[in-house]
Amino acid sequence: MSAKPLNDLSQLCIHTITTKPWNIETAAQNFSKAGVKGITVWRDALTGRNIKQTGQQLRDAGLEIVSLCRGGFFPSIDVSKRKAALDDNRKAIQEAAELGAPMIVLVCGSDPLQPLEESRKQIQDGIMSVLPEAKAAGIKLAIEPLHPMYADTRSAVNSLGQANDMACEINSPLVGVAVDVYHLWWDPHLEQEIKRCGRNNHLYAFHICDWNVPTADFLWDRGLMGEGCIPIKKIRSWVEDTGFQGFYEVEIFSNKFWSEDQSVFLNKIIKAYQEKS
Ligand code: ZN
Repeated sequence: MSAKPLNDLSQLCIHTITTKPWNIETAAQNFSKAGVKGITVWRDALTGRNIKQTGQQLRDAGLEIVSLCRGGFFPSIDVSKRKAALDDNRKAIQEAAELGAPMIVLVCGSDPLQPLEESRKQIQDGIMSVLPEAKAAGIKLAIEPLHPMYADTRSAVNSLGQANDMACEINSPLVGVAVDVYHLWWDPHLEQEIKRCGRNNHLYAFHICDWNVPTADFLWDRGLMGEGCIPIKKIRSWVEDTGFQGFYEVEIFSNKFWSEDQSVFLNKIIKAYQEKS
Protein backbone atom coordinates (compact mmCIF):
# COMPACT_ATOMS: atom_id res chain seq x y z
CA MET A 1 0.00 0.00 0.00
CA SER A 2 1.42 3.42 -0.84
CA ALA A 3 1.03 6.33 1.52
CA LYS A 4 -1.80 8.78 0.93
CA PRO A 5 -0.90 12.44 0.39
CA LEU A 6 -0.59 14.57 3.52
CA ASN A 7 -3.01 17.26 2.42
CA ASP A 8 -3.66 18.71 5.83
CA LEU A 9 -1.33 19.41 8.73
CA SER A 10 -3.36 17.61 11.38
CA GLN A 11 -0.54 15.09 12.05
CA LEU A 12 2.39 17.48 11.65
CA CYS A 13 4.59 17.91 14.71
CA ILE A 14 7.88 19.79 14.78
CA HIS A 15 10.69 19.37 17.31
CA THR A 16 11.87 22.56 18.98
CA ILE A 17 15.46 21.70 17.98
CA THR A 18 14.43 21.77 14.30
CA THR A 19 14.08 25.55 14.53
CA LYS A 20 16.80 25.91 17.17
CA PRO A 21 17.43 29.65 16.61
CA TRP A 22 13.87 30.33 17.83
CA ASN A 23 13.14 30.16 21.52
CA ILE A 24 10.18 28.00 22.50
CA GLU A 25 7.76 30.93 22.73
CA THR A 26 8.61 32.14 19.21
CA ALA A 27 8.51 28.60 17.85
CA ALA A 28 5.08 27.98 19.39
CA GLN A 29 3.70 31.19 18.00
CA ASN A 30 5.02 30.54 14.50
CA PHE A 31 4.14 26.84 14.42
CA SER A 32 0.61 27.67 15.49
CA LYS A 33 0.23 30.45 12.91
CA ALA A 34 1.42 28.09 10.18
CA GLY A 35 -1.14 25.43 11.16
CA VAL A 36 1.28 22.97 12.77
CA LYS A 37 -0.59 20.90 15.36
CA GLY A 38 2.08 19.20 17.45
CA ILE A 39 5.31 20.14 19.20
CA THR A 40 8.01 17.95 20.70
CA VAL A 41 9.99 19.85 23.28
CA TRP A 42 13.73 19.44 23.76
CA ARG A 43 14.74 19.92 27.37
CA ASP A 44 17.22 22.70 26.58
CA ALA A 45 14.30 24.78 25.28
CA LEU A 46 12.91 24.82 28.84
CA THR A 47 16.02 26.25 30.50
CA GLY A 48 15.17 29.07 32.91
CA ARG A 49 11.41 28.69 32.44
CA ASN A 50 8.51 27.69 34.62
CA ILE A 51 7.83 24.36 32.94
CA LYS A 52 4.19 24.15 33.95
CA GLN A 53 3.46 27.61 32.58
CA THR A 54 5.34 26.87 29.38
CA GLY A 55 3.22 23.76 28.88
CA GLN A 56 0.09 25.83 29.32
CA GLN A 57 1.36 28.42 26.82
CA LEU A 58 1.89 25.69 24.23
CA ARG A 59 -1.61 24.32 24.73
CA ASP A 60 -3.05 27.84 24.64
CA ALA A 61 -1.35 28.25 21.25
CA GLY A 62 -3.32 25.22 20.07
CA LEU A 63 -0.37 22.85 20.07
CA GLU A 64 -0.44 19.30 21.33
CA ILE A 65 2.71 18.39 23.26
CA VAL A 66 3.81 15.13 21.69
CA SER A 67 6.90 14.29 23.71
CA LEU A 68 9.83 15.53 25.72
CA CYS A 69 13.31 14.94 24.25
CA ARG A 70 15.24 13.41 25.76
CA GLY A 71 16.10 10.95 28.49
CA GLY A 72 18.44 8.00 28.34
CA PHE A 73 22.25 7.84 28.30
CA PHE A 74 22.08 5.03 30.84
CA PRO A 75 25.27 3.01 30.24
CA SER A 76 28.64 3.75 31.73
CA ILE A 77 31.55 1.72 32.95
CA ASP A 78 31.47 4.05 35.96
CA VAL A 79 28.80 3.20 38.49
CA SER A 80 28.51 6.78 39.77
CA LYS A 81 27.76 7.97 36.22
CA ARG A 82 25.07 5.29 35.87
CA LYS A 83 23.51 6.53 39.08
CA ALA A 84 23.66 10.14 37.87
CA ALA A 85 21.92 9.05 34.67
CA LEU A 86 19.07 7.50 36.66
CA ASP A 87 18.68 10.74 38.61
CA ASP A 88 18.60 12.72 35.37
CA ASN A 89 15.95 10.42 33.91
CA ARG A 90 13.84 10.82 37.03
CA LYS A 91 14.21 14.57 36.60
CA ALA A 92 13.11 14.26 32.96
CA ILE A 93 10.02 12.32 34.07
CA GLN A 94 9.22 15.11 36.51
CA GLU A 95 9.70 17.73 33.78
CA ALA A 96 7.46 15.81 31.37
CA ALA A 97 4.75 15.66 34.00
CA GLU A 98 5.02 19.40 34.67
CA LEU A 99 5.01 20.20 30.97
CA GLY A 100 2.08 17.91 30.27
CA ALA A 101 4.03 15.74 27.82
CA PRO A 102 2.78 12.16 27.74
CA MET A 103 6.08 10.62 26.68
CA ILE A 104 9.86 10.87 26.88
CA VAL A 105 12.07 9.85 23.98
CA LEU A 106 15.12 7.89 25.10
CA VAL A 107 18.48 8.27 23.39
CA CYS A 108 19.74 5.25 25.23
CA GLY A 109 23.51 5.85 25.39
CA SER A 110 26.61 3.70 24.99
CA ASP A 111 30.04 3.54 26.57
CA PRO A 112 32.90 2.64 24.20
CA LEU A 113 34.91 1.32 27.18
CA GLN A 114 32.63 -1.70 27.46
CA PRO A 115 31.00 -4.16 25.03
CA LEU A 116 27.74 -3.13 23.35
CA GLU A 117 25.99 -6.09 25.00
CA GLU A 118 26.94 -4.72 28.43
CA SER A 119 25.70 -1.25 27.45
CA ARG A 120 22.41 -2.75 26.25
CA LYS A 121 22.01 -4.60 29.54
CA GLN A 122 22.60 -1.35 31.45
CA ILE A 123 20.05 0.44 29.23
CA GLN A 124 17.43 -2.17 30.00
CA ASP A 125 18.26 -2.12 33.73
CA GLY A 126 18.17 1.70 33.65
CA ILE A 127 14.73 1.82 32.07
CA MET A 128 13.43 -0.74 34.58
CA SER A 129 14.89 1.33 37.45
CA VAL A 130 12.97 4.47 36.50
CA LEU A 131 9.74 2.67 35.56
CA PRO A 132 8.14 3.15 38.99
CA GLU A 133 8.52 6.94 38.66
CA ALA A 134 7.26 6.82 35.06
CA LYS A 135 4.25 4.80 36.21
CA ALA A 136 3.50 7.16 39.07
CA ALA A 137 3.59 10.12 36.68
CA GLY A 138 1.84 8.30 33.83
CA ILE A 139 4.69 9.04 31.41
CA LYS A 140 5.53 6.68 28.54
CA LEU A 141 9.14 5.94 27.60
CA ALA A 142 10.08 5.47 23.94
CA ILE A 143 13.31 3.65 23.12
CA GLU A 144 14.76 5.29 20.00
CA PRO A 145 17.16 3.04 18.09
CA LEU A 146 20.00 5.10 16.61
CA HIS A 147 21.96 4.52 13.40
CA PRO A 148 24.97 2.21 14.00
CA MET A 149 27.37 5.12 13.38
CA TYR A 150 26.36 6.29 16.86
CA ALA A 151 27.01 2.94 18.56
CA ASP A 152 30.21 4.23 20.16
CA THR A 153 28.81 6.86 22.51
CA ARG A 154 25.16 7.62 21.76
CA SER A 155 23.26 4.37 21.60
CA ALA A 156 23.95 0.67 21.85
CA VAL A 157 20.44 0.10 20.48
CA ASN A 158 20.99 0.35 16.74
CA SER A 159 18.16 -1.45 15.00
CA LEU A 160 14.42 -1.59 15.35
CA GLY A 161 14.80 -5.33 16.03
CA GLN A 162 16.93 -4.61 19.09
CA ALA A 163 14.52 -1.92 20.32
CA ASN A 164 11.56 -4.26 19.81
CA ASP A 165 13.36 -7.04 21.69
CA MET A 166 14.04 -4.70 24.60
CA ALA A 167 10.47 -3.37 24.74
CA CYS A 168 9.18 -6.97 24.70
CA GLU A 169 11.53 -8.03 27.49
CA ILE A 170 10.60 -5.06 29.65
CA ASN A 171 6.96 -5.82 28.88
CA SER A 172 5.36 -2.68 30.30
CA PRO A 173 2.41 -0.75 28.85
CA LEU A 174 4.56 2.37 29.32
CA VAL A 175 7.63 1.28 27.34
CA GLY A 176 7.66 1.35 23.54
CA VAL A 177 9.71 2.51 20.60
CA ALA A 178 10.32 5.68 18.56
CA VAL A 179 10.93 5.01 14.86
CA ASP A 180 13.15 7.62 13.20
CA VAL A 181 13.69 7.23 9.45
CA TYR A 182 17.16 8.79 9.70
CA HIS A 183 18.38 5.98 11.91
CA LEU A 184 16.55 3.03 10.39
CA TRP A 185 16.03 3.53 6.64
CA TRP A 186 18.92 1.23 5.66
CA ASP A 187 17.68 -1.82 7.58
CA PRO A 188 16.53 -4.74 5.35
CA HIS A 189 14.31 -5.93 8.21
CA LEU A 190 12.63 -2.56 8.70
CA GLU A 191 9.23 -3.44 7.23
CA GLN A 192 8.84 -6.61 9.26
CA GLU A 193 10.11 -4.94 12.44
CA ILE A 194 7.67 -2.03 12.02
CA LYS A 195 4.89 -4.63 11.68
CA ARG A 196 6.11 -6.38 14.82
CA CYS A 197 6.36 -3.07 16.69
CA GLY A 198 2.76 -2.24 15.76
CA ARG A 199 1.49 -5.72 16.60
CA ASN A 200 2.93 -5.40 20.11
CA ASN A 201 1.49 -1.89 20.57
CA HIS A 202 5.03 -0.56 20.91
CA LEU A 203 4.99 2.00 18.08
CA TYR A 204 4.93 5.24 20.06
CA ALA A 205 6.50 7.83 17.74
CA PHE A 206 7.52 8.43 14.14
CA HIS A 207 10.31 10.91 13.32
CA ILE A 208 11.06 12.17 9.80
CA CYS A 209 13.84 14.02 7.96
CA ASP A 210 16.19 12.92 5.19
CA TRP A 211 19.71 11.55 4.68
CA ASN A 212 21.82 13.99 2.67
CA VAL A 213 24.11 12.59 -0.02
CA PRO A 214 26.86 13.22 0.77
CA THR A 215 26.35 13.90 4.47
CA ALA A 216 28.68 16.70 5.54
CA ASP A 217 28.37 16.07 9.27
CA PHE A 218 26.99 12.94 10.91
CA LEU A 219 25.18 14.87 13.60
CA TRP A 220 24.37 18.33 12.28
CA ASP A 221 23.56 17.72 8.61
CA ARG A 222 20.15 16.10 8.47
CA GLY A 223 18.22 16.86 5.30
CA LEU A 224 14.75 18.16 4.70
CA MET A 225 12.31 15.49 3.53
CA GLY A 226 12.84 14.87 -0.18
CA GLU A 227 16.42 16.14 -0.27
CA GLY A 228 18.11 12.81 0.34
CA CYS A 229 17.83 9.07 -0.19
CA ILE A 230 15.36 7.90 2.49
CA PRO A 231 12.17 6.32 1.06
CA ILE A 232 10.02 8.29 3.50
CA LYS A 233 6.65 7.66 1.85
CA LYS A 234 7.29 3.93 1.73
CA ILE A 235 8.32 3.81 5.40
CA ARG A 236 5.32 5.97 6.34
CA SER A 237 3.02 3.51 4.56
CA TRP A 238 4.45 0.68 6.69
CA VAL A 239 3.90 2.76 9.83
CA GLU A 240 0.32 3.58 8.78
CA ASP A 241 -0.38 -0.07 7.99
CA THR A 242 0.09 -0.82 11.70
CA GLY A 243 -2.80 1.51 12.51
CA PHE A 244 -0.49 4.24 13.83
CA GLN A 245 -2.43 7.48 14.20
CA GLY A 246 0.12 9.61 16.00
CA PHE A 247 2.07 12.59 14.77
CA TYR A 248 4.70 12.69 12.04
CA GLU A 249 7.48 14.54 13.81
CA VAL A 250 9.93 16.64 11.82
CA GLU A 251 13.27 16.38 13.59
CA ILE A 252 16.07 18.07 11.67
CA PHE A 253 19.46 19.06 13.10
CA SER A 254 21.08 21.19 10.44
CA ASN A 255 23.73 23.87 10.66
CA LYS A 256 22.69 24.84 7.14
CA PHE A 257 19.01 25.40 7.95
CA TRP A 258 19.77 26.98 11.32
CA SER A 259 21.75 29.68 9.51
CA GLU A 260 18.69 30.56 7.39
CA ASP A 261 15.68 32.72 8.20
CA GLN A 262 13.61 30.27 10.28
CA SER A 263 10.31 31.53 8.85
CA VAL A 264 11.51 30.60 5.36
CA PHE A 265 12.70 27.25 6.72
CA LEU A 266 9.30 26.62 8.34
CA ASN A 267 7.59 27.16 4.99
CA LYS A 268 10.02 24.70 3.41
CA ILE A 269 9.23 22.14 6.13
CA ILE A 270 5.50 22.41 5.48
CA LYS A 271 5.94 22.07 1.71
CA ALA A 272 8.27 19.10 2.13
CA TYR A 273 5.86 17.52 4.61
CA GLN A 274 2.98 17.75 2.15
CA GLU A 275 4.87 16.80 -0.98
CA LYS A 276 7.78 14.59 0.03
CA SER A 277 6.81 12.80 3.22
ZN1 ZN B 1 14.42 11.00 16.36
